[in-house]
Amino acid sequence: NDNILDIRNLKKYYPVKGGVMRRHIADVKAVDDVSFQIKRGECLGMVGESGCGKTTLGKAILRLHDATAGRVYLDQDAEKIEELEALFASDKPEAVAQAEAMRKMMDLTRLKGRAMKEARRKINIVFQDPSNSLNPRLLIKDIVGEPMIIQHVYSSAAEVEERVVELLGTVGLSREHMRRYPHEFSGGQRQRIAVARALATNPKFILMDEPTSALDVSVQAQILNLLKRLQDEFQLTYLFVTHHLLVVKYITQRIAVMYLGKMMELSQTPELFKTPLHPYTKALLSAIPIPDPETKIEKIILSGDVPNPLNPPSGCRFHPRCPYAKEICKERIPELEDAGGGHLVACHRWRELN
Ligand code: SF4
Repeated sequence: NDNILDIRNLKKYYPVKGGVMRRHIADVKAVDDVSFQIKRGECLGMVGESGCGKTTLGKAILRLHDATAGRVYLDQDAEKIEELEALFASDKPEAVAQAEAMRKMMDLTRLKGRAMKEARRKINIVFQDPSNSLNPRLLIKDIVGEPMIIQHVYSSAAEVEERVVELLGTVGLSREHMRRYPHEFSGGQRQRIAVARALATNPKFILMDEPTSALDVSVQAQILNLLKRLQDEFQLTYLFVTHHLLVVKYITQRIAVMYLGKMMELSQTPELFKTPLHPYTKALLSAIPIPDPETKIEKIILSGDVPNPLNPPSGCRFHPRCPYAKEICKERIPELEDAGGGHLVACHRWRELN
């Protein structure tokens, strides 16, 4: 299977309770029916304004949040996935029952016990702010070594320690840093330690959750270069969540654009910057200076804030801010469709507008 992750119809809703009885009154649809694949060895960027659901989506994939619905296939056989999805699509109750049984062995959102533990080894996360993600009371050797101990990767403390030294070397630190605490390091060094920790169990997939946003501009490039080098060296796959478009332009091969819990566009990175198809993507790109004189993107200035996710707009969620909205946009949710060569777009009017 060329895809390391295959995400189908993923939803993450947060219930909102109110009144004296704390009754369920509504759901915040942070991620609403999102499907896409992440290719083995690629860096896929996930962009959008704050509150668009990009971080929630990443965390639901990793099962740091329980998904409300949908399936996440990690490193599974492509034919088996299609077989299982066909069973889910069936209207026969026995087929759906069979799908539910198969799902317990294949769907990351349903794995338990040993299968889940094995899956955990393959996936990891680097958080935005290393000051919060590293335990200030632990020595660096314990912070980096902890995942290996939890996952029983090595049988002796000496082996764990040797691997910690190796990992620190990989991220540009050394043995002498092992017996220090996080506060003794700069922000950039702390993020290097977080990356070493994320690599400890030899994962295949790492969710990069705004990994450079909390750092000084001067060290952001160093960390990006480090992440790029490690990706090549260890054949890693990244989902790179950020609101910073120039960062994704530099580091990703493809980009997905999210808006209010929905995926609006997904394309190869150079193509997205050169010929974006969705009005929201054009609006995001209009806000950044693009040094390439060849690129002529129509300027769309975003007006207003992102609407309240508790009560998202009907039809296309972007319609209240879209200069091209028509009646159909308020009535029908646009499907994500292939505009050619895997460039996906969810807009009723993309053909006439491009
Ligand atoms: Fe704009 Fe309509 Fe396209 Fe949504 S579907 S982006 S409102 S033109």
